[in-house]
Amino acid sequence: MHWADVLAGELVKEKKKKHVLATGITPSGPIHIGNMREVLTTDAVYRSLRKRGVEADFIYVADDYDHLRKVYPYLPKSYEKYVGIPISEIPCPCGEHKSYADHYLSSFLNSLREIGVNPKVYRASEMYKKGMYFKAIQTALENTDKLKMIIEEISKRKLPKYWIPFNIRCGKCGKITSAKPVLYDYPTIEYKCDCGYEGTVDIREGGIGKLPWRVDWPARWKMLGVTFEPFGKDLGTAGGARDTGEKIVQEIYGYPPPKYAVYEFILLKGKGAMHSSKGIALSSEEMLNMTPPEVLRFLIMKNQPNKHIVFDPGLGLISLVDEYDLEECVYFGKEEETRGMKDLEKTYELFQPDMVPKKIPYQVPYRHLVTLVQIDKDWNEVKKILLRTGQIPKDLSDSDEKHLRQRAEHAKYWLKYFAPDMIRFEVKKKTPKVQLAEEQKKFLSTLLKILPSLEWTGESIHNAIYEISEKEKILIKTAFKTIYQVLLGQDKGPRAGYFLSNLDKDFVLKRFKEAIK
Ligand SMILES: [Zn+2]
Ligand SMILES: [Zn+2]
Repeated sequence: MHWADVLAGELVKEKKKKHVLATGITPSGPIHIGNMREVLTTDAVYRSLRKRGVEADFIYVADDYDHLRKVYPYLPKSYEKYVGIPISEIPCPCGEHKSYADHYLSSFLNSLREIGVNPKVYRASEMYKKGMYFKAIQTALENTDKLKMIIEEISKRKLPKYWIPFNIRCGKCGKITSAKPVLYDYPTIEYKCDCGYEGTVDIREGGIGKLPWRVDWPARWKMLGVTFEPFGKDLGTAGGARDTGEKIVQEIYGYPPPKYAVYEFILLKGKGAMHSSKGIALSSEEMLNMTPPEVLRFLIMKNQPNKHIVFDPGLGLISLVDEYDLEECVYFGKEEETRGMKDLEKTYELFQPDMVPKKIPYQVPYRHLVTLVQIDKDWNEVKKILLRTGQIPKDLSDSDEKHLRQRAEHAKYWLKYFAPDMIRFEVKKKTPKVQLAEEQKKFLSTLLKILPSLEWTGESIHNAIYEISEKEKILIKTAFKTIYQVLLGQDKGPRAGYFLSNLDKDFVLKRFKEAIK
């Protein structure tokens, strides 16, 4: 059975009328790739529940009322003054978003649609400002001593003497980290801030402060009726927020702790685990921009949540797409099943951002697409090459074209930011200035005699190159190098025969003639 069905099965056993599956993030920096795993893990369980006819909601809580903890390496020094202020109240670093939190959150949320995930989004800042937390705050303050005991006992951390389970937002400096409570007398709290300000807040009003994270999380479980929420293994450590949360939600809020799955990190090949707090790492958005959505889903769905995933943003990405394409062929009965393709019947469905296609989508090897988008960035030109070389049929369906075009876009992003240099090339518009050796010139002139009457296919060009190299006793390495030098201005490039067949024949002949002039 697929892991998503096992997790959904656990939930079904509880016989609840409705399930609420929660995910979330504190958007204090580029959203790390672990969050992508959280969202897709939950999506798998959500789909499994829906398939069984169980009513379920999928929510995403952005804790944008959390404060800026420090000036992260990706922030300008001037952000020092905002440390301690909720990230929804801090200006956006680029000037184009509503707030600091939105800067990191909004594009990620938009990109979720592409992978077929559509959670209902809650923003903590709005929840606090609308007063949704009022009851939870009141209950917490009434149970200050008990909460303090639970947190100190489980986390083994000592809390300050006058600790209360509420971080008051100073009416003057706006920080939620520096106001100390002086007196709580329902419904008001008198406080004194480090900035010198003394004031009073009424807890029935919205936006006057925030529950500390260890209390906020369980309070939210009850408020939103959460029944399932996965978390990264860093939160699941003994004495961590999940541990205290379980006890707090039962004993203070009288609500059962949600079921969960602990998910492992996604490691970048050669770089270890990624944490947004440690500086710039590969973000969720970048991972999605470079990986076709069905392939990204494939990567997450085929691995048990408790197994770490190694993601290779280099050449490994091409192999990953090939692996996906092969499984797709097996699913549609075009290839034999091989080892490791467990539950394909079920998992292929989970790989799809949308509906399962009725017939196999038209496949063009990804490596080839990576070459074509470098020959021409414009999709219509790429399509022309594919048509001319017979790699796609004239009656390609709209959905197949959309699919290939989307893959081409992902390939372009990957090439721009992540592809290794050895993959990159550019067909030079003018003949590059290279000093060709005599044997290189001889190779080109012999090739020029053969090419005009040659069938313009990868295979026949490939064979012609080999024949000439043998006959003229020119190293095949030199032959290839010559082709790359006069077309790309570099010594290496994509497989020559196939590469030339994708270029316009007249263009290639003209270039070779110019090169030996
Ligand atoms: Zn911005
Ligand atoms: Zn203050």
